[in-house]
Amino acid sequence: MKRQQNPITLLGVLLLIVAALGFYFLIPDKDMDLTTCVQPGSTASEIGFLPPYLLKEIAHCYPGKSKYLQTLTLTEKLKSSAQSRQGMFYQLFHRSARRVYDAKHLEDLPGLKARFEGEPPVRDMIVNNCYDYGGLVRDYYRAVHNREGLDGKGSRLKFVVHYGKDFENAYWDGEFMVFGDGDQEIFSTFVDLVVTGHELTHGVTENEARTAYWGMPGALNEHYSDVFGVLIKQWSLKQTAKQADWLIGDSLFTKKVAAGVKTDPERRKLPAALRDMLEPGTAYDITVNPKDPQSEHLKDEQPARLRDYKQTLSDNGGVHYNSGIANRAFALFAISDGGYAYEKPAQIWYRARRLAGRTPSFVQFAYWTVKACRQLYPGDEELVAKLKKAWSTVDVVPDQKEPDNRTPRIKDRPVH
Ligand SMILES: [Zn+2]
Repeated sequence: MKRQQNPITLLGVLLLIVAALGFYFLIPDKDMDLTTCVQPGSTASEIGFLPPYLLKEIAHCYPGKSKYLQTLTLTEKLKSSAQSRQGMFYQLFHRSARRVYDAKHLEDLPGLKARFEGEPPVRDMIVNNCYDYGGLVRDYYRAVHNREGLDGKGSRLKFVVHYGKDFENAYWDGEFMVFGDGDQEIFSTFVDLVVTGHELTHGVTENEARTAYWGMPGALNEHYSDVFGVLIKQWSLKQTAKQADWLIGDSLFTKKVAAGVKTDPERRKLPAALRDMLEPGTAYDITVNPKDPQSEHLKDEQPARLRDYKQTLSDNGGVHYNSGIANRAFALFAISDGGYAYEKPAQIWYRARRLAGRTPSFVQFAYWTVKACRQLYPGDEELVAKLKKAWSTVDVVPDQKEPDNRTPRIKDRPVH
């Protein structure tokens, strides 16, 4: 017997479709389009690319320090406003489209429309650079990791440039990637490809592993962002690991800021940066008063080995310091592999981050990199040996047994 279609059911389905479309198009963009479902107290939210200790140190001893204090205060304020804005909707369709806004030196997000996906370049090069860097981050994740957007679902990428009056920082709050302007004294710009890749990778980490942002897991969270930040640059330039400079944020500082002294003479020509993955602790050396030979210096203090792990209550338990230890291991491994870091090393780290879960220690994460290496490249024990050697150079011996991710050995809670 032929089944009769019920006209009421058909009408109901039609109404549902119309309601869904109306819902999609009418809900304000701000709520529709969040890149993650970050809840207050969650693990993701780094607010600010510059570590707070650097801003504090500059504010403490640099002439014209008020703007750095303002940046610090504003950064703190942003933490709470970001948490209250972060909400519940994922984008319904796959797009990963870019939207760049201009805050016009105000502190209201997002500001005026500056350049949206598919539109031609505008006069403001900061807007164009931001648009291009956002595109490279998206294209890297798509091409190398088959990932569509930060959440893997093609959420829109939204950027705000010219934020605030004296905001010397860049940050990602779960919805917007926001850039202040450099003061041209110490900072030249914050719109930088590696910085953009670093910040947006916090979004990927939040979706992949929800890694904590305190102590050693927090340092690994920072490390993941540095790794994928430089990988995006190396991929876009088609550089081998040996050719790459391994610097994080080398366009941030003005020429007045020098690099620290590097052990490799070849690398002494490199400019100052915020971090040096290959030689942690040599990224920058800021002379506070260049006219005074006795002037105080603010130097990069990242440790390069586990034995020098910095115990501190500030900076979420030293997340921006201790990331240098794992950074060096990654850079050394990629160079010893001999090819492109965005090939095998990138795949190993991408997988290991997920395997390692929320609260890995360095030795636990090292275990997961070995595991990921064997899963991805079975039988390649030469690669495993290179990986273990890189970790041992920074004093990390991977765990022998599979770590229990449910019972972390170390604290991942705020300590202050
Ligand atoms: Zn970060």
